[in-house]
Amino acid sequence: MSSLLDLKKTELIELLKTEKAKYDEFCKRGLHLDMSRGNPSKEQLSLNGDLLNAVTDPDDCLTDDGIDCRNYGAPYGIRQARELFSEIIQVPADNVIIGGSSSLNLMFDVISRAMTHGLANSPRPWIKEEKVSFICPVPGYDRHYKILEYFGIDMIPVCMTGEGPDMDEVERIVSSDSSVKGIWCIPVYSNYSGDVYSASNIKRLAYMKSAAPDFVVMYDDSYTVHDLYDQYADIPSFYKECCNAGNENRPIIFASTSKMTFAGGGISCVAFGGENLRLAQNAFSVQAITHDKVNQLRHVRVLKDLQTIHKRMHGFADILRPKFELVESKFGEMLGNYDIADWSRPLGGYFICFRLKYGSARKVISLCNLAGVKLTPAGAGFPYGIDESDSYIRIAPTYPSLDELETAVTLLCICTLISSLENVIAMEA
Ligand code: PLP
Repeated sequence: MSSLLDLKKTELIELLKTEKAKYDEFCKRGLHLDMSRGNPSKEQLSLNGDLLNAVTDPDDCLTDDGIDCRNYGAPYGIRQARELFSEIIQVPADNVIIGGSSSLNLMFDVISRAMTHGLANSPRPWIKEEKVSFICPVPGYDRHYKILEYFGIDMIPVCMTGEGPDMDEVERIVSSDSSVKGIWCIPVYSNYSGDVYSASNIKRLAYMKSAAPDFVVMYDDSYTVHDLYDQYADIPSFYKECCNAGNENRPIIFASTSKMTFAGGGISCVAFGGENLRLAQNAFSVQAITHDKVNQLRHVRVLKDLQTIHKRMHGFADILRPKFELVESKFGEMLGNYDIADWSRPLGGYFICFRLKYGSARKVISLCNLAGVKLTPAGAGFPYGIDESDSYIRIAPTYPSLDELETAVTLLCICTLISSLENVIAMEA
């Protein structure tokens, strides 16, 4: 069989009855599973025990260049932390500013400052513009879009292609509409399509003409070292490409160690080029005297350099890979014969993108919720939480145990079958 559509109506009704009976059994189990967010699992967090012991002695809080991390000073972060992120995000260390424990906070700050003060080459603060818009690749990261919603910035969805956003569409919009001030990008293992941007798309983002003189790329490199297999995602330096293109004000690059060490307890960074670096440093020095340098010291002692990070990330990959493979094989086994859904097979990151052929994501998610498995709400990852096609579901397999995951994904497949069968039966009525 290659499609539900190949089944006779009586067979469809029989199959629906069987799947509903399975669903009723699941409902009786009193499940309480939460797969709504991409949190690291306890086993992953336990691999970072050394971080808790990296600074224990009060006399041991000096950096190699003599900065006492217990005191004020080094407003843009300790040198070693800036160098560490410089390697990760491929930007010179002088352009890197270390923040607190959240890169999302830094992203919020950039947009907030653009609204009140503008960025390099802004004719006026964004809040004084008649309209400000951003391109939002879909499916994307819901929290990026919430920041824009918070500031009343219009969002223009553009589809992902498997190697980044549809760049023909991005170039068309950015070159013709001066209200478009930016685009969000997650270049590696994108949350949540899993895309790794192609070198040619990274170049196009750097070189494309923009109608807005202050157009920026909010380049969130948060999953750049989060490989599931031995192969590293090797992408060109976006910063270098922008400089070569004469667009040094364009890249605003973010990263954090939230999913290398402790989620929400790591260190974060933002990097700028050109005039935007000067403006950001100025704002930073007004905003805080210094961020937590003791945590920066812990991190540089443990993470050391990119090679060490890759080695540590292998340990995470060994925990995560079986989870991703379990989800993919369960989908294949339970849905592969029916042509009712497809799913991404990411080589890294935190998510699997599940897409229903017969748009019914809201229904499937609600059936799962009723049976005790909480999934990311339908529409998350789309501007304003609206997925017009009602077909995308974000699967976050990292947190649950393998047993829990198997239960949750089996239930999801049953709910997918039920809602697809109901749709096909209704279509044939
Ligand atoms: N960016 C992306 C794409 C994420 O998926 C997440 C968390 O899931 C974050 C940023 C949040 O990072 P942080 O903990 O540094 O604020």
